[in-house]
Amino acid sequence: MSLGDRYKTEITNEKWDAIIIGSGISGLTSGRLLADAGKKVLILEKHFKFGGYTHTFKRNNYEWDVGIHYIGGNLHKNNSFIRRLFDYLSNNNLDWSRMDDIYDKMVFPDKTYDFVTGKQLFIDQMISYFPKEENAIKKYIELVNQVFKSSLSYYSNKALPGIIGSITYPFMSKSFLRFAKRTTKDVLSEIGCSQQLIGVLTGQWGDYGLPPGQSSFGVQAMITRHYFEGGYYPIGGSRMIAETIIPGIQSKGGKVVLSTGVKTILTHNGNAIGVLLDNGDEIMSKKIISSAGVKNTFEVLLNDENKTSNKSAPINQVDASTGYYCLHIGLNKSAKEIGLNNANLWVYPGYDHDQNLENYLLDNKQSYPVVFISFPSAKDPTWDKYHPDSATIEVITVAEFSKHRQWEDTEWKKRGDEYDLLKENISQSLLESLYKHSPNTKGHVDYYELSTPLTSRDLANYKEGELYGINHTPQRFKQRWLRPETKIKNLYLTGQDIVTAGVSAAMMSGVITSSAILKKNLMKQFLH
Ligand SMILES: Cc1cc2nc3c(=O)[nH]c(=O)nc-3n(C[C@H](O)[C@H](O)[C@H](O)COP(=O)(O)OP(=O)(O)OC[C@H]3O[C@@H](n4cnc5c(N)ncnc54)[C@H](O)[C@@H]3O)c2cc1C
Repeated sequence: MSLGDRYKTEITNEKWDAIIIGSGISGLTSGRLLADAGKKVLILEKHFKFGGYTHTFKRNNYEWDVGIHYIGGNLHKNNSFIRRLFDYLSNNNLDWSRMDDIYDKMVFPDKTYDFVTGKQLFIDQMISYFPKEENAIKKYIELVNQVFKSSLSYYSNKALPGIIGSITYPFMSKSFLRFAKRTTKDVLSEIGCSQQLIGVLTGQWGDYGLPPGQSSFGVQAMITRHYFEGGYYPIGGSRMIAETIIPGIQSKGGKVVLSTGVKTILTHNGNAIGVLLDNGDEIMSKKIISSAGVKNTFEVLLNDENKTSNKSAPINQVDASTGYYCLHIGLNKSAKEIGLNNANLWVYPGYDHDQNLENYLLDNKQSYPVVFISFPSAKDPTWDKYHPDSATIEVITVAEFSKHRQWEDTEWKKRGDEYDLLKENISQSLLESLYKHSPNTKGHVDYYELSTPLTSRDLANYKEGELYGINHTPQRFKQRWLRPETKIKNLYLTGQDIVTAGVSAAMMSGVITSSAILKKNLMKQFLH
């Protein structure tokens, strides 16, 4: 059976129980769980590749992931929740490679700090860097555990339908919101962390897109805990995720179709009844599930009657996350020959991430507030077999969509000389950072290509090329409507926006949405 299905107009004549907009991990998870429950599902993907941010692209002999550098969550343990879920969805066909013991390195101008695998080792390592702040570090870990525990009922509530969900919301969300409605900086300052310690503990802020003065402590704590047992990489690259999940959906009678964008969600008398495609066809379905992000869903996909502000959702209560540049680099020797480790590097100009970001946004000639350097081919044990004598690297930093607005009406790959020059300048500055922090790479760069917020807009369909959907502010976590059920009957949400960014979280959102639709707790089967 080939991967995915081709769009044919006959699809419009079939009877669908659920149409899912988007084939990212959340759409695929929902598709598989609903298909397993006997529902006839149709997944419509606008892009010419499956997988949303888990897709990859190739140039020459190189291949890069677009939205995965590492996943946490105890994947080496067969009985961990995330592993069980991946095994189930992929019919045990998806394998993981654990990164080296040091999975993240926080590089500050005066010193580099290692994030090591294993909770106690991580704690000991932090205390060895900041012996005078031992109590604050221990308190921090205690809070991380509390946030995680309280998040379980906060997220479970999202799966509860209608009135039950509403009545139980206040007490199911109270404990989590105690932390999530505060900024990371507030909480860390209160427990006595110095500016330097805050800078190091929040060194993964790029994993959710906001510095400590703006981010919710809820997301900071969840990310810290997620990586306690180290980082993992999907063997064969991130495209293996969609490639191993789609056949299971097809085998249950579902269809997953590429290059088929949804233009409008059709409604009638306050009910979602189908979709209008970019090609003009209409497809009817009992339920519509959107994984396209809440901004897309409420600001673009709904027709005018439902779009009018705040009627369907108070969408102006959440804002879009930043855009990003990613330099995809190909090297003409293997990672081993060049001497590359697989730890991610996070390079910072100083310990105050809020100030670094502010400086950069005020004047783009200032240092990048963060440069993230990832070595995917060094993480994949099968890379050398299929791509001998080569290696890949990705270098990412923050980019504002507004700086690219003058080219917003141009087409991908045809944006003109001025844009190409801007890209070349940014590529060179990111290469400079790479050579500084990974000097062995110099002389081996054979290919590079920069993606900008316009690339992400055109290929991932986020309006402003957002890195992580909506921003992870305290305000976001207070939004009760960020749940599967919407005010429009039979229209459901799934995806990173109703939980948090991250492949595991987005996968969880698929479980939550399917549970809400089937009125059944699907989470249980993956817990041991
Ligand atoms: C640069 C980058 C690095 C990242 N690194 C990591 C990492 O290391 N680890 C980690 O866990 N997470 C990482 N993430 C985050 C993670 O990739 C995402 O949170 C997750 O994949 C989101 O899944 P999703 O299903 O919610 O959305 P998406 O993957 O965005 O899927 C949504 C899909 O909907 C489709 N779509 C949109 N509109 C329409 C329409 N109108 N019609 C049809 N289809 C439509 C899109 O094309 C897309 O395929 C990273 C993200 C980025 C951008």
